[in-house]
Amino acid sequence: MKLLERVALVTGASRGIGKACALALARSGADLALNYYPGLQAEAEGVVAEIEALGRRAIAVEGDVSSAESVEKMVAETLAWQGKIDVLVNNAGITRDGLLIRMSEKDWDEVLSVNLKGVFLVTKAVAKAMVRQRRGRIVNVSSVVGLCGNAGQSNYSASKAGVIGFTKSIALELGGRDILVNAVAPGFIASEMTEKLSQEVKEAVLKTIPLGRFGQPEEVAEVVAFLAETSYLTGQVIPVDGGMHT
Ligand code: NAP
Repeated sequence: MKLLERVALVTGASRGIGKACALALARSGADLALNYYPGLQAEAEGVVAEIEALGRRAIAVEGDVSSAESVEKMVAETLAWQGKIDVLVNNAGITRDGLLIRMSEKDWDEVLSVNLKGVFLVTKAVAKAMVRQRRGRIVNVSSVVGLCGNAGQSNYSASKAGVIGFTKSIALELGGRDILVNAVAPGFIASEMTEKLSQEVKEAVLKTIPLGRFGQPEEVAEVVAFLAETSYLTGQVIPVDGGMHT
């Protein structure tokens, strides 16, 4: 229970990897602010109930991570709730896959806006509070494709590579205030995001994974929870990919 009395904010926390991270942090003792995309409150309230059943406090906070106004509101609501944010997990993300020559500007902009600008906006808003607290842990959810690229995902891979550069830069800026900033780079994890891939693509991907299976959200979450508790590790990217990228 290393995170007892700590407050964590997880973006995109109502399902998939975000939900698993929230539950893992709660099991380590943290109270949770669960961000959900505007209008999709019911699923987030379900996660609130699961966390309360673990004996921890939780609230659902609405917010579109790609909107500065929405992010300011979400962070202010979280700070008003418990007065601090000790842990931030930037998890919210989307895909709009397609080969470059067919990719629309809209698909490029949407992915960069949520996956990269979203991380910037939420981190900036939360870092102000962490600097005042002189302590914080930030974990960004990148992707293995941010390290090695992926045909059909130039927008997504660029956004996730951007998150890695952002993570390393912010780690340098904030280290002196005991604010540690790291990233995880998940491989192919069973979630709604990967469920929509064709059977053909799934089979091709499986062949590239030495462990021979997709990962589970909980397997990413245990690394995120470790990074939320760590004290001498910053600016690093931890692949959680069954050995895909070595
Ligand atoms: P998912 O099931 O599709 O969940 C994505 C989450 O992001 C949802 O909770 C969604 O909210 C939220 N979200 C999307 N746009 C948002 C916005 N503008 N503002 C706030 N929340 C927003 O995907 P997942 O697989 O759990 O992915 C979670 C993270 O892991 C993403 O960053 C993804 O890129 C990364 N990742 C996933 C894999 C994988 O194989 N699954 C691999 C590497 C990295 P709603 O539920 O409200 O729509």
